[in-house]
Amino acid sequence: MTNLEVFSNAKLDVRKNVQLKDYLSLKIGGDADYFIEPSNVSEINQAIDIAKSLNLKYFVIGNGSNTLALDYGVRGLVIYLGPKFSKIELLENNIIKAESGALLKDVCMFAQSQGLSGMEPLYGIPASVGGAIYMNAGAYDGEIKDVVLSVDFIDENNQLNSLSNAESDFGYRHSYYMDKAGIVTAAYFKLQVDKAEDIQARMDDFLNRRESKQPLEWPSAGSTFKRPNFHYASALIDICGLKGYAINDIKVSEKHAGFLINVGCGTSKDFIDLVNHIHSTVYAQTGFKLDPEIQILK
Ligand SMILES: Cc1cc2nc3c(=O)[nH]c(=O)nc-3n(C[C@H](O)[C@H](O)[C@H](O)COP(=O)(O)OP(=O)(O)OC[C@H]3O[C@@H](n4cnc5c(N)ncnc54)[C@H](O)[C@@H]3O)c2cc1C
Repeated sequence: MTNLEVFSNAKLDVRKNVQLKDYLSLKIGGDADYFIEPSNVSEINQAIDIAKSLNLKYFVIGNGSNTLALDYGVRGLVIYLGPKFSKIELLENNIIKAESGALLKDVCMFAQSQGLSGMEPLYGIPASVGGAIYMNAGAYDGEIKDVVLSVDFIDENNQLNSLSNAESDFGYRHSYYMDKAGIVTAAYFKLQVDKAEDIQARMDDFLNRRESKQPLEWPSAGSTFKRPNFHYASALIDICGLKGYAINDIKVSEKHAGFLINVGCGTSKDFIDLVNHIHSTVYAQTGFKLDPEIQILK
């Protein structure tokens, strides 16, 4: 029996040779051997069990806005937690539950429609809930950890589990789920009552700031490097004269030097070469070591 038949016997809709660049904001990446878009926790559990039994590596992606796939793709199964797993609901006591495939933007808009505040700084981050929890995404002095009550996730034994905010070990672009390869299935957000129009005004303000500073017209994965202590990665890259520097079709944005943009047919090799060039130039000229924030599927 082929691997695909094993998945299909378990009633899992697994596709073969799926082009990853279609799912990633950088628009780079070869094919995934196997690809599934589950719509519930049980399908994720089954996909993992089967992948393990077939000796296939598996990888999770959300909205693909912080992920680089290599040009030769992924040998294994990609589990895409997206629109099919994206329910958002209001619970008691001003708590919103969102499945991990929900877009952060939609959760922010839902909160605003319910007159619930707290998520505004996150509005405009092109993340899924799962990706944002995994990365502890943040902007404008806010991080997702500021509003998380608890997180449901699948642990390394393929069991559904739950952790509180404190147990989630959130730090700057860091979480427990990153260390333990936990698959986030849902998050609970504890919010505060406020006037819907005031919430909307703050969301609009954060979005405007983003649009004025970021090269949103080009494919990118946002800020490529983490913020080093006591400095900003984009300022260091700028000081080193690297704005506009390109390797083939991957270029340091002139609008925001932290963003590496794909201006045509950029490859993962170009991207990695440029990351390495920036790393060594900034280190040589300033003494700062820039750590990549972007995650590589490998
Ligand atoms: C234009 C632009 C602007 C951006 N601005 C910001 C910003 O202001 N602040 C910020 O923090 N980031 C920003 N980013 C980066 C990115 O949006 C965040 O890192 C976001 O949290 C990634 O979410 P995602 O769903 O796209 O994750 P993906 O790129 O799909 O995945 C990122 C990582 O999370 C893992 N992952 C995804 N879903 C799950 C899950 N359910 N369970 C476990 N692991 C999972 C993946 O395996 C991968 O390692 C920006 C990106 C772009 C393109």
